[in-house]
Amino acid sequence: EEKIIKAYKRAAQPTKPRNPIDVKQYIDTQAKPHLNFVVLGHVDAGKSTLMGRLLYDIGAVDKNKIRKLKKESEQIGKGSFHLAWVMDQTTEERERGVTVSICTSDFKTPAANFTIVDAPGHRDFVPNAIAGVSQADVAVLSVDCGTDAFESGFNLDGQTKEHTLLARSMDISTIVVAMNKMDTVDWSAIRFYQIQDELMEWFKKIGYKEDQIKWVPLSGFSGEGVYKIPYPEEQNWYDGPSLVETLETVATKVNVESRKEVLDKPFIFSILEVTTTKKHDESILAGKVESGSIQPGETITIYPSEQSCLVDKIIAGREQEATSIAVKGDFVTLKLRQSHAKDIEGGDLCASVGYDIKSARKFKIRLSTFQMNRPLLPGTSVMLFRGVYEQPARINKLLTIVDPQDPSKVLKKKVKHLPSNQTAVVEIELTERRRWIPMVTIDENKHIGRVIIRKDGRSVATGAILEVE
Ligand code: GDP
Repeated sequence: EEKIIKAYKRAAQPTKPRNPIDVKQYIDTQAKPHLNFVVLGHVDAGKSTLMGRLLYDIGAVDKNKIRKLKKESEQIGKGSFHLAWVMDQTTEERERGVTVSICTSDFKTPAANFTIVDAPGHRDFVPNAIAGVSQADVAVLSVDCGTDAFESGFNLDGQTKEHTLLARSMDISTIVVAMNKMDTVDWSAIRFYQIQDELMEWFKKIGYKEDQIKWVPLSGFSGEGVYKIPYPEEQNWYDGPSLVETLETVATKVNVESRKEVLDKPFIFSILEVTTTKKHDESILAGKVESGSIQPGETITIYPSEQSCLVDKIIAGREQEATSIAVKGDFVTLKLRQSHAKDIEGGDLCASVGYDIKSARKFKIRLSTFQMNRPLLPGTSVMLFRGVYEQPARINKLLTIVDPQDPSKVLKKKVKHLPSNQTAVVEIELTERRRWIPMVTIDENKHIGRVIIRKDGRSVATGAILEVE
């Protein structure tokens, strides 16, 4: 039961920014709305093509590079592949300095800044989707509207259901449904509404309301409905915004909400990846600001190792430039001094000095189970996911079954097993003894206060952390 991390000296006093910036003034005047989104959908639903098209039409990729990719893809007889490659190309570039677990691609429109969160490599692999979704504010769900294609992606074994369920569990407020490949069904309104009806029924079942779901007919391949390319004549039944315009509206809305979390909440940063440099006390942390803000010159504490470090530089954006402030929602790289990188790992958390994050191996969690083949029992072994963390764990005790609408209401006190579609308070323990894990409760942060539980390769429940022992 030992805490196997060397205790470092934790700073008691914060340090001042080197060139202080007024945070309120900064977000009022300089910061454009910023939206992080993840792209979900069944394999072959057109995700890569769509994102390639989007980045291309917005001008975020080099024209010469596209020409080269196009030539290569034509040579192997796959004319449309060049668009799908755009994401992978930017991925390769990113891998040099940033992270391998999560990749981000930035682009701008006059109205907002965007970050596409991508889990490269196995884009269709659910643990990666978990990592991706946990870094995003909203999701773009690509749906192949081609005849029969939708049905194959939507049946129970398809990923559309699991992806959207994960999005719901991880508090993704809005889903923008890219009704993709509409060119393959001659922009048929009947097809569009048929799929919309079926999907909406599912969204409602998992707890979404109609106004949380947006629908855009488009073709990632030819570009209509994505940014500015107008629809063909056959499409005379939809005159709503394009995908990018929809995302701009969502960005503005999300911005209003996240403003509070910049100003009123402490700085919390989730680490995706750690690198060292030649300087002995320097570490480089790539990650995401989960709440609050940070400026160079400030001191932060890293958990679970509880070492306090000086933020020497903040690096951000496509050009990887030094910046003077990072706020909630920003993906940045922190260059730290006075640090010991060997005791920092991806998944660790940082906070401003004076804000304690608890590390433990036992947690009290409010679990909501999905549809499962077998109930969960005390002693059941599971995998626990939070962001890029993936840890073996055991359900120690089933404490109470509660009302999902009002979790303070206990429905049942003696719980022997936990079946599908129930909400229960349970005690969970990490079974790998190597390290303790920093955890924040759902009250502290609604994003990182959440975990996903998987068993036998399937997501079986979502959990809100209530208490850290
Ligand atoms: P992913 O697996 O979801 O990333 O899907 P891809 O982007 O790789 O696309 C899968 C296949 O569908 C490729 O052969 C694409 O060329 C094709 N495709 C993608 N988008 C469209 C589209 O809008 N219209 C048509 N006709 N084909 C598309």
